[in-house]
Amino acid sequence: MRYGIFSDVHSNWDALEAVLRELRREKVDRLLCAGDLVGYGADPAACLGELRRQQVISVAGNHDWAAIGKLSADWFNPHARAAVEWTASQLAPNDRVYLEQLPLIWSDSEVTLAHGCLTEPERFHYVLDPGTAAAALSLQKTPLAFIGHTHVPVFFQAAEETTCLPAGKTGVEPGQKWLVNVGSVGQPRDGDSRAAYCLYDTVQRSVEIRRAAYPVEAAQKKIREAGLPEFLARRLEMGA
Ligand code: ZN
Repeated sequence: MRYGIFSDVHSNWDALEAVLRELRREKVDRLLCAGDLVGYGADPAACLGELRRQQVISVAGNHDWAAIGKLSADWFNPHARAAVEWTASQLAPNDRVYLEQLPLIWSDSEVTLAHGCLTEPERFHYVLDPGTAAAALSLQKTPLAFIGHTHVPVFFQAAEETTCLPAGKTGVEPGQKWLVNVGSVGQPRDGDSRAAYCLYDTVQRSVEIRRAAYPVEAAQKKIREAGLPEFLARRLEMGA
């Protein structure tokens, strides 16, 4: 089985399209999205439509909940809050229903999927250090779990002392447990403006973070035309 996993699309159609094109070429069997389908970018309807058409299995992120009023945007920064309000105004009733029914956690026998953390998933904690990762890994029943939320790809491996490894490619030995942050499709924040995604091959037993170049200017233009904060356009080219 080959999984294609990505996260934090954030209404960036141009980035999503590039990632889905590469994943189609990789002939993945199952597409997974770790949440934050909307927010920040200017194409919420197109992204939600495509994710549904491609039968992507998704969990809910904090921006998805905020856009439908399931989570207060009071604690969001002003740019994020402006995007939440604009996104809410763009959603059709069926988009709202789709976001409403997304689960917080999804799993099969091989993989667990959540947006922020397996610990209290409804509170969207950030996994930024080995200590938080160790708590999440202790709840994890599958060999692999995939998350997003920080927009920075990174690997955590469960061991007596949980270790944090730079995102790249790794083998997964039987009995090992890994927590993988797959980074962000639509708004990377690790200094690389290309869209991030992940491939997990259960036969080769390998996990790999990849990057897809996409027309950043096209996404920026739409953000500006929608009247969204200029900062949301500018940060895309910085990958920050
Ligand atoms: Zn996000």
